Amino acid sequence: MQNHNTRYIFVTGGVLSSLGKGITSSSIATLLKHSGFEVSILKIDPYINLDPGTMSPLEHGEVFVTQDGAETDLDIGHYERFLNKSLEKKNNFTTGQIYLSVIEKERRGEYLGKTIQIVPHIVDEIKHRIKSVGEGSDFLVVELGGTVGDMEGMPYLEAMREMKHELGNERVLSIHVTLVPYIKTAEELKTKPTQHSVQELRRIGISPQIIVARSEKPLSKELKRKIALSCDVADDSVIVAEDAKSIYQVPLNFLQEDILTPIARNLSLPPLKPNMQEWDLLVKKIISPTKSVKIGFVGKYLSLKESYKSLTEALIHAGANLDAKVEIEWIDSENLTSNSSILQDLDGILIPGGFGERGVEGKILAIQYAREHNIPFLGICLGMQLSIIEFARNVLGIKEATSSEFDSKTSYPFIYMIEDFIDQEGQKQIRTHTSPLGGTMRLGEYECNLKENSLLQKAYNNQKTIKERHRHRYEANPKYRSMLEEKGLIISGESNGLIEAIELANHPWFVAVQFHPEFTSRLQNPNPVILEFVKQSLKKC
Ligand code: GLN
Repeated sequence: MQNHNTRYIFVTGGVLSSLGKGITSSSIATLLKHSGFEVSILKIDPYINLDPGTMSPLEHGEVFVTQDGAETDLDIGHYERFLNKSLEKKNNFTTGQIYLSVIEKERRGEYLGKTIQIVPHIVDEIKHRIKSVGEGSDFLVVELGGTVGDMEGMPYLEAMREMKHELGNERVLSIHVTLVPYIKTAEELKTKPTQHSVQELRRIGISPQIIVARSEKPLSKELKRKIALSCDVADDSVIVAEDAKSIYQVPLNFLQEDILTPIARNLSLPPLKPNMQEWDLLVKKIISPTKSVKIGFVGKYLSLKESYKSLTEALIHAGANLDAKVEIEWIDSENLTSNSSILQDLDGILIPGGFGERGVEGKILAIQYAREHNIPFLGICLGMQLSIIEFARNVLGIKEATSSEFDSKTSYPFIYMIEDFIDQEGQKQIRTHTSPLGGTMRLGEYECNLKENSLLQKAYNNQKTIKERHRHRYEANPKYRSMLEEKGLIISGESNGLIEAIELANHPWFVAVQFHPEFTSRLQNPNPVILEFVKQSLKKC
């Protein structure tokens, strides 16, 4: 369906990075969605990489996987969690992708021999992509990564300026997120950085209509007026975004700051009245829950908690829906030894996904502990692979059992690299080994058939088939299936001959899945298996 009246809301950032533009964009989109509109959202990353899939978590935090198998920026995860809808590959693009498509077109002769330049060719490609993402929606919120003034951002700001020129004020709105720092020695909030960053925007022909001022303290009326005057926006268009207790509180705070009034006025819309009742209730349960549960999170990137963003958010969603605070006990798997007392007073143990051999033995110890002490357990991706290895080593007695990821020549590849698999479209995919990082990932959404009466099926409300997202290279080896089953390991999820989930017969709740359930969890729609894991852990405490 084509909707020729899509309105575009551009969100830029000034002063410095990490101001929460992603949460700001998600919150605005949420308020519009709850006002009854069809809303979509786009993140533009001005870096040259084609996608974050091969970037180190140190550089980038989590790689979020969309249902159609794209490795995207972690902000896409926030968008899905706030908007309660699945986005696609097209909802995130990078400068690398823009240049690649322009260069490919040039090679195909599509520019008829013209000299290819940033203006118009790169900028036209950017505008074309933005418009195609907006098609069919009433609103497209466009978050521009980076900070105004960055060299990489210039073509995008030009595209924004041109879109406003072409589509008019009623269809293009510019919101600028800045920082109003508090200077302790002077005991004052400072507006100068905001003024400078708006000046920078205006120098290139963009006058933002709304300023979102991030601040650790409330702003007085006078200060808001000062920002309005110096940045040339209406008095009601300076929205203060004070640090919030939960990111999910931000849409409610924006509503209180009345951000929808200047949005509606600038876009010539009647007053907007979002229904945030259900959202409000969930946020109350996040902020002041009545129960609490302690989950041991055994990972190896603990200094990089951002790389587990979707999973920690999924635990918050489960907690909000169960009226419980999920306390995470971060456990560095490299420090775990067989006599670690840290596992003793946990209500549940969680092993997230991961790559490489480092920290694996500690995770296996934690799995053994959960299995032997009847502690509710959830293993995700690598967590499932290691659960099979733990079972093979300690129940089947095959001490050499491992994954070919850690030992490519092993005689006991309980987890192995398969040559081919059937993809989401039912096509046979051959794993190529041409990538410098070795092999093709199984990415995106796959169907999984659940075993009748399994814990997993119960968690998914007795559904026969579910769809969840994947991001991994290795698989459980079916060669060992009957050996494992004979000793009480249950295969509770399968798809096209692949083992997608396991559980244990002699344990109250031990479930491990090859997919990443955290990618589909939303505040208003928590992921069923993560919700059930927290519920089971609550029973224990
Ligand atoms: N390293 C494992 C694999 O590639 C698991 C990946 C993951 O946990 N996402 O199969």
